[in-house]
Amino acid sequence: MDIIELYNTHVADTYARSPLVAESGVGAQITDENGKVYIDLGSGIGVNCFGVCDGEWIKAVEAQLHALQHISNLYYTEPQAHLAQILCEKTGMKKVFFGNSGAEANECAIKCARKYSSDKYGSGRNTIVTLINSFHGRTMATLSATGQEAMHVHFAPFLEGFKYAPANDFAALEALCDGSVCAVMLELVQGEGGVIALDKAYVTAAAKLCAERDLLLIIDEVQTGNGRTGTLYAYMQYGIVPDIVTTAKGLAGGLPMGCAMLGEKVENTMTAGTHGSTFGGNPICAAGALSILSRLDEKLFDEVVKKGEYIKAQLEGAKGVKSVTGLGLMLGIETAKDAKQIARECLDKGVIVLTAKSKVRLLPPLNITWEELEKAIQILKGVIAQ
Ligand SMILES: *Cc1c(COP(=O)(O)O)cnc(C)c1O
Repeated sequence: MDIIELYNTHVADTYARSPLVAESGVGAQITDENGKVYIDLGSGIGVNCFGVCDGEWIKAVEAQLHALQHISNLYYTEPQAHLAQILCEKTGMKKVFFGNSGAEANECAIKCARKYSSDKYGSGRNTIVTLINSFHGRTMATLSATGQEAMHVHFAPFLEGFKYAPANDFAALEALCDGSVCAVMLELVQGEGGVIALDKAYVTAAAKLCAERDLLLIIDEVQTGNGRTGTLYAYMQYGIVPDIVTTAKGLAGGLPMGCAMLGEKVENTMTAGTHGSTFGGNPICAAGALSILSRLDEKLFDEVVKKGEYIKAQLEGAKGVKSVTGLGLMLGIETAKDAKQIARECLDKGVIVLTAKSKVRLLPPLNITWEELEKAIQILKGVIAQ
């Protein structure tokens, strides 16, 4: 049986997959089982931030593979220690909890916010305000946190204690933040929701409100983090200091890793026995993340910003393009033509693009070459125009 048939027979049918059987790759180029080469503008949904089979990353991961693959969090390993140190040094956060995914990072943030509040204020102050159209994950708690009615079906009962505010409406946020609320959780650029950046004034006002009312400000940087938007974390462009920052996707360059970074207020909230993960902070994944983080520097961010501006300049005003939104190399393109149709035609023509809601979404590897980017954007432009 061929690969797609095997999936259809044996893999749970939870995705609308595109007909590409990926076999190998290098950088921003992916080769399928028939030897056809694609330029990748999706990087596995913002995961392969230095593309496929990056040489330095392979070396770091391979060295760790030959040393120790796992020991559990009942003991200590060097890669996890140094990764936590670097994350804290680069963000000013105080402590890091490691998990394996974005949803797990957010689970930790949710638990931490509730424990902080119950430790300090007792029961009844446990609601978390998130935004309408947000996306925070697929576990029961993070699905409950996700502000999309369409996702609050099939799996009832959902977790209590979430309220949803319309984005960029400060008065609405303020009104929702009553005595039952312990935290506000935001994506600074809504990814799955259609690549929509929050207004700076709104975010600044929200941060101020949180500080005044001792509400924890949780920034979900699962998608926006690790250089994607042109700074190490997107919050750094908004001039705010979050209490908790979560990230995953690009963190370990293609290995499963997520983390919740805990600021001053909550650095000692999570104590022994209150949370855990068998694989979290695994030394192989940590070695991969160390390799990635060591290269997320100003020079790279400058490239990310320039490439993002190039894509915007090429597409804004182009035939069939209604708008281009997003930050850095996290972009959404509103088109006259159906986005899924565009993705299908691009795949045919050797370019991988993603969609988000009704938009085409681009999350190319941060180090995509200019030649690859120019070629892929011309093909995308042609497909959108047709
Ligand atoms: C992808 C994503 C998640 C979920 O991450 P998983 O690793 O799939 O659990 C959470 N929040 C945001 C903003 C995301 O983009």
